[in-house]
Amino acid sequence: MKFNDFFGNLPPSYVFAGLAVKKNLARKKWGDELIDLGIGDVRLPLFGCVADEMKKATDELTAASGFRGYPPASGYDFLKDAISADYAKLGITADRNEIFVNDGAKGELFALNSLMGGGSKIVFPTPCYPAGLEAAILHGNEPIFVRSDDNGAPIPPFGKQCDAIYLCSPSNPSGKAMNENELGLWVEYALSVGATIFFDGAYSDYVQGGGIKSIFLVPGSKKCAAEIRSFSKGYGFTGIRLGYVVVPQEQKELNDLRKRLSGCLDNGVSYVTQRGGAACFSEKGQAEMRKRVGYYKTNAAILKQALKAVGIKSADGNDSPYVYSECPGRFTDEAFCALLSDKAGVIATPGRGFYEQGGEFFRLSAFAPRKEILAASDRIRDLDI
Ligand code: PLP
Repeated sequence: MKFNDFFGNLPPSYVFAGLAVKKNLARKKWGDELIDLGIGDVRLPLFGCVADEMKKATDELTAASGFRGYPPASGYDFLKDAISADYAKLGITADRNEIFVNDGAKGELFALNSLMGGGSKIVFPTPCYPAGLEAAILHGNEPIFVRSDDNGAPIPPFGKQCDAIYLCSPSNPSGKAMNENELGLWVEYALSVGATIFFDGAYSDYVQGGGIKSIFLVPGSKKCAAEIRSFSKGYGFTGIRLGYVVVPQEQKELNDLRKRLSGCLDNGVSYVTQRGGAACFSEKGQAEMRKRVGYYKTNAAILKQALKAVGIKSADGNDSPYVYSECPGRFTDEAFCALLSDKAGVIATPGRGFYEQGGEFFRLSAFAPRKEILAASDRIRDLDI
């Protein structure tokens, strides 16, 4: 067999797989006292109202009349309609034939890359979530890095040709949510070079204040953008797996190809999962989500305060469950994460995992129970750095 040579262009392991090895070493010293704020995985339980709908759906399957086999490749209409209704609250139209239900945003980034012919130039503002970038590398596409400004806002490289652009807002790791003007510049740039924007809205539920929740609020975006969303971070579905992408009909060829891809990619997402997803959009589901997002964001604010107390500067972004911060003077990101792990028993992710371009940074995830966040904050305040 001839292997895919592009594997040779990837780092030896995915950032969070590498982190797991370091965590296991730290556990030898800290045991159960180790606090893992590394990988961005949710820790609080599933909402009762969502679980109830999933149980009901499972019961339906036990009757001959309610049994279902393969789901429709791009998702059940009941879930697509709930997604459309959610977009309608923002004044955005998203029709059934523009929505493709999937098992989460990470796989979608891979799927969208497979629509490109290899050799495509893709702009990645850094620091950035690594999965889309690694999918690009594996498909033989060429990343073009653009460093975000000091406020975490990526600036389009006007005049530079590209085929696609990956944007994530609110950003993982910086927490920066772009506002309409900032995103408007990217839409203008994409239209000027004929590129497609893959807009990763995995953290759209965390937007408050000045940022906008969807790129489709920007005029012109339906001609150049596809929007990826996930149930992982707002509804606690990292283990259940559910997401969707919206590809507007205005981009007919892209929409047609994405539809065609649904037929080759997999056999869809389970009925039970999709019923759970629809329940997320109920009044109760939305109220639970807002409470949960508030909880994680308060966690992030507590961590930021602790870092500030020891003189560590964090990025301005407040619209995410992450705290992205500069390492104190003499430390590299790896060295500072090693110190945090050894002296505070706190696992953090080094900035280089996000293809950070210049500077030394680290990310703390705020997805932990409050007790752990408070303990981690106390230990950070006690650090002698
Ligand atoms: N996009 C971003 C920006 C993320 O941070 C993550 C997960 O951390 C994902 C996508 C993947 O989400 P999912 O669980 O839906 O695959």
